[in-house]
Amino acid sequence: MSVVDVLVVGAGPAGAAAAIHAADTGLEVLLVDAATFPRDKTCGDGLTPRAIHSLARLGLADEVTRDYRNKGLKLRGFGGSVTAPWPEGHYGTVGSAMPRTEFDHLVVRAAVARGATLWEDATATAVTREGRSIGEVTVRHGGVDKQVRARWILVADGVRSTFGKLLGREWHRGEVYGIAARSYCTSPMSTEPWIHSDVELLDDTGTVQPGYGWIFPLGDGRVNLGAGALSTDARPAKVNTKKLLAHYAARKRQEWQLGPEQDVASALLPMGGAVSNVAGPNWMLIGDAAALVNPLNGEGIDYGLESAEMAVGLLQEGRDLTLVWPHLLRETYGEAFLLARTAARLLTYPTFLPLVGPLGLRGPVGAVIMPAAARLMGNLITDEDRDLIARAWRLSGAAVSRARRDTPLWSTTA
Ligand SMILES: Cc1cc2nc3c(=O)[nH]c(=O)nc-3n(C[C@H](O)[C@H](O)[C@H](O)COP(=O)(O)OP(=O)(O)OC[C@H]3O[C@@H](n4cnc5c(N)ncnc54)[C@H](O)[C@@H]3O)c2cc1C
Repeated sequence: MSVVDVLVVGAGPAGAAAAIHAADTGLEVLLVDAATFPRDKTCGDGLTPRAIHSLARLGLADEVTRDYRNKGLKLRGFGGSVTAPWPEGHYGTVGSAMPRTEFDHLVVRAAVARGATLWEDATATAVTREGRSIGEVTVRHGGVDKQVRARWILVADGVRSTFGKLLGREWHRGEVYGIAARSYCTSPMSTEPWIHSDVELLDDTGTVQPGYGWIFPLGDGRVNLGAGALSTDARPAKVNTKKLLAHYAARKRQEWQLGPEQDVASALLPMGGAVSNVAGPNWMLIGDAAALVNPLNGEGIDYGLESAEMAVGLLQEGRDLTLVWPHLLRETYGEAFLLARTAARLLTYPTFLPLVGPLGLRGPVGAVIMPAAARLMGNLITDEDRDLIARAWRLSGAAVSRARRDTPLWSTTA
């Protein structure tokens, strides 16, 4: 039996960041992951200024931005285009991109350097309950079952959250979710300082799909190229994302002088807080496990890092976390996520994007909408922003929240 203050299940960005924050406050931390690092994770590898801001709080921003930095987003589609530098403001103007094999390893190494104990090849498989609290956790470590008792358990086991499911986590597929594929391609433009998104994503029949294609330069002779589509149970995206990716790569090959797509991998993305039962008296779900992914761009590293810091902040208060944690998530992200989820849901209607895209994204309307869209796609509107777009976004968020009170948003069903 191992006894620690904090057990963190999953050592992706959310779990490893939580381990760092907890160790920094003097807690004894055990970080366990089913994989052995370095390990791959299907991702676009993009790090917005919002993520860099959180990495700075972990003391890791310099390492992540040393070899490659980007300045903003180039967004294209339906005859419109905009180059949107990362805006001055709360998060700073530096973005980056780093293959997850390297990035996640870096954050895990930092967690160990700061005092956390790491078990690799260690899968959390079972729990005993003491009332609604977790008593002991069984961790299969190197083929041997070990018991761990912790005062708090932070669950950062990613999109499928198999451990979270044991605790009652439920994912609502009636809400919008993403399916996406990524690849790596060589390109002489890999030091290009802009990330690129195409919102007019065509399949091989020329039909517009609800989603976007991206090329995120990595600065190491390669780019991360991918394509993602939005889906709901009622209107499932009828696309093979790997084929969509191949088609997108073919369209971009000449412009970017792309090598063949390598390491193609696809994954699901629950989004916008569309999960229930994310906490109990002594446990919380963070990162993807809590569906902390922006429905308008599929980004979740920044929210994973932020939720890690917020969760550790709550531990200090010593309260029952069952209602406190979902309440804090709703306060922090509720309106923005619900609005983004509602907007993303509209995109899943097959007629919406082909109709609205050409009208909205080019000409005089496009000149206003494209920069706003770029800010939204960069997760870069904050509560401190007072400009027209930010105000309109917040007002719409409040209105949608009132209208969709019953929609699942980190709800508690126990
Ligand atoms: C195709 C695609 C593109 C994306 N592009 C971007 C992007 O460009 N930028 C961005 O910010 N986000 C992007 N995202 C989202 C991003 O990948 C996630 O939001 C992010 O990885 C969440 O981090 P996490 O730590 O919560 O989970 P993960 O990174 O998934 O880590 C979970 C960890 O838990 C471990 N684990 C699972 N179960 C157990 C268990 N029972 N016991 C022990 N360990 C366990 C796993 O081995 C894994 O290491 C993308 C996602 C996809 C699918």
